[in-house]
Amino acid sequence: MAIPERTELLPFCPEVEAWSLQRGPSDPSAPYSGFNACHYVGDSPEHVDFCRRALAEHLGIDTAHIVIPTQTHSNRVVTIADEPQPLDGVDALVTDRKGTALCINTADCVPVVLADPEASVIGIAHSGWRGTISDIAGATVRAMEALGASPRRIKAAMGPSICAQCYNVGADVARQFTERYGADSGVVEYNDRTPHINLGRAVAINLIRAGLDPLAIQLPAICSYHSAGAWPSARRIGTASVRTLTLIMLR
Ligand SMILES: [Zn+2]
Repeated sequence: MAIPERTELLPFCPEVEAWSLQRGPSDPSAPYSGFNACHYVGDSPEHVDFCRRALAEHLGIDTAHIVIPTQTHSNRVVTIADEPQPLDGVDALVTDRKGTALCINTADCVPVVLADPEASVIGIAHSGWRGTISDIAGATVRAMEALGASPRRIKAAMGPSICAQCYNVGADVARQFTERYGADSGVVEYNDRTPHINLGRAVAINLIRAGLDPLAIQLPAICSYHSAGAWPSARRIGTASVRTLTLIMLR
């Protein structure tokens, strides 16, 4: 199996591979058709293994060096070193190991990749609304700092995720975002009387608060909900379906 088309996330960073993978050729009525490396969304283990092997082959690494946590909208970050460790309830990963692919699965939530090329330290995070409120992106930056990264050097990019126009939320969620980011931040928008959240902007503010240069942060370029097929959207097709894989690896 050839892996599907991808969108590059840190094209000016030759030291890393960093991209999000499209679903690829698929039957829209079959929720698990197309690429899916996510093991906890109801897909068959055989299909997930098949996709992971294709990914490993493409990267030229062993499948054991593809790290995919079981995400739970937590703000828990794990540092990947030599010792294997449990990855249940983990929503962000960091490492300084070359040839180790850190992966996050999403369908509307924001995947964030981070790299300090000078220190050879990378990170990745899954920032949905809960992870954004609990600042998983900031926690990931701090875990990278513990490995020698400097926030002033870190470059960040966000993969395909739901845009503000498509992301309407309830009043309680909107209130939490207004409390954290302020009414003038542009994070909460009222396009059609119901509140809408600009998750990418909120994640960017988290990263700036963690010390990143605003010019080093790339906002999401693609809306998963708008794309209607190329990128999985939980709001459009439900959560029992494939996920977008986003990856970062030090070459
Ligand atoms: Zn949209």
